[in-house]
Amino acid sequence: MRPSTAMIGRFSAIAILIAAPGAATLLVLAGMGLLATGPALAGVLGLAAAAALIVVFYGRDVVRITRYLRRLDRDADQPPPRLATELGHRFAGSIAVLQRRWRRRERSLTARLHSEAAIIDAIDGPILLVDDGRTVTRANDAARRTFGDQMVGRDLAGALRHPDVLAAVDRALAGGGGETIAFTRPVPVERVFEAAIKPFADLPADTDAAAPAPPADRTARPAALVTLHDITAIKRSEQMRADFVANASHELRTPLSTLAGFIETLRGPARDDEEAQDRFLDIMHQQTGRMSRLVSDLLALSDIELDEHTPPTELVDLPRVADAVIGTLEIKARDRRMTIRLDGPGDLPPVIGDSDQLTQVFQNLIDNAINYGKPETEVTVSLAPTQDPGAGRAVAVSVRDRGDGIAKRHLPRLTERFYRVDPARSRALGGTGLGLAIVKHIVSRHRGRLTVDSTIGEGSTFTVILPVRAVTAVAAGGAARRG
Ligand code: ADP
Repeated sequence: MRPSTAMIGRFSAIAILIAAPGAATLLVLAGMGLLATGPALAGVLGLAAAAALIVVFYGRDVVRITRYLRRLDRDADQPPPRLATELGHRFAGSIAVLQRRWRRRERSLTARLHSEAAIIDAIDGPILLVDDGRTVTRANDAARRTFGDQMVGRDLAGALRHPDVLAAVDRALAGGGGETIAFTRPVPVERVFEAAIKPFADLPADTDAAAPAPPADRTARPAALVTLHDITAIKRSEQMRADFVANASHELRTPLSTLAGFIETLRGPARDDEEAQDRFLDIMHQQTGRMSRLVSDLLALSDIELDEHTPPTELVDLPRVADAVIGTLEIKARDRRMTIRLDGPGDLPPVIGDSDQLTQVFQNLIDNAINYGKPETEVTVSLAPTQDPGAGRAVAVSVRDRGDGIAKRHLPRLTERFYRVDPARSRALGGTGLGLAIVKHIVSRHRGRLTVDSTIGEGSTFTVILPVRAVTAVAAGGAARRG
């Protein structure tokens, strides 16, 4: 870049200013006759030449440093310029040191910003930052997944329509304190959220470093941080717990009130009626049996739930377990003129399991097959090796009855606690409504699977798939220890 005319003018003025005092002194001395005119003029010229040289050297360095600073603004990796003067050289060196320091600070800040953005994005719950105009200025990955990519730069109401949440955000922006609000988002799938709204002071980011914002704009502005927690599962489990307690109390209250009613009758009107007493005691016996079955099923369920996450470790011979259970249920089957047949190869691999719990699985499934199968039909218990897409090598245990079958719409709910297709029939048969729930939890502890196949008018088949792959590991471990 060549120096402009204005710059040359400015430098000339500086040179004149530097030379002027000395030149004026020489001229005054000449005027007073103290100095000959010739040497005085030669001195003035010398001074002018020296001043011009100084200005040229320093001026050139100043121009180079100015250019260097401009280049630095565009691209931080610039070598310092070559300068003619020691002072310029030092000045440029200090600028370079300062620049390197800023670069290091900038790099570490950028790295920190990146890691913090990654942490915020890794957080499961949506997080939104809203400015004083209620516009979403930042959103983490979870927020974008939940509310869509377009939410940044728009009014929060576009993503979160809930009036209570919006009102709480407005209050926070107007200087209010933090609030927590639970709300339901009905679409696409109903979900319950808890929104924590906190006031926040946000500094506006510089968009153009070359044009700093006016001071008033650089002060912190009110903003709000909105953090959402998906509490759907918690709410659902609270609801399930409440339903369960209500159902269990209802199931216990029914036989209890029957008992209370009969006790009342036996003490009053039936006090001397021996025949009625026998009949009533019989019913009371049935009701206490029902209560005791219910209590043991409830205890079994809670025990199974407690250790559901601890996989079993015993080696279980399934045909032997099935055989023992069939033995205990044969009398009940005979009473209904039914038979139980066990089908299965003799060389079935053992599974890793809990034999008491697997006994309960057989017990509940075969008991249901007898209860819901038609009289004079057969219940078939089959054991077979199988290959399961999820479990790999497995054993399939199926219990088939020839009953009325179950309508398709009931199938997904059969393993819910207290869910019954026909509550009156289940109760009349002494059912607690917990048998299949127990089966489901035991199978889940065994990392297995329960499927139900049913045809109306023909009957149902309940199949439990139990993986055997872990057996090899245990057997191999045992062999290694023995070796
Ligand atoms: P319950 O004590 O009522 O038998 P379960 O949990 O064992 O409770 O079964 C839940 C419901 O599933 C039963 O009430 C019944 O309606 C239905 N069910 C279970 N097994 C059979 C089956 N083999 N055939 C027809 N319905 C069945």
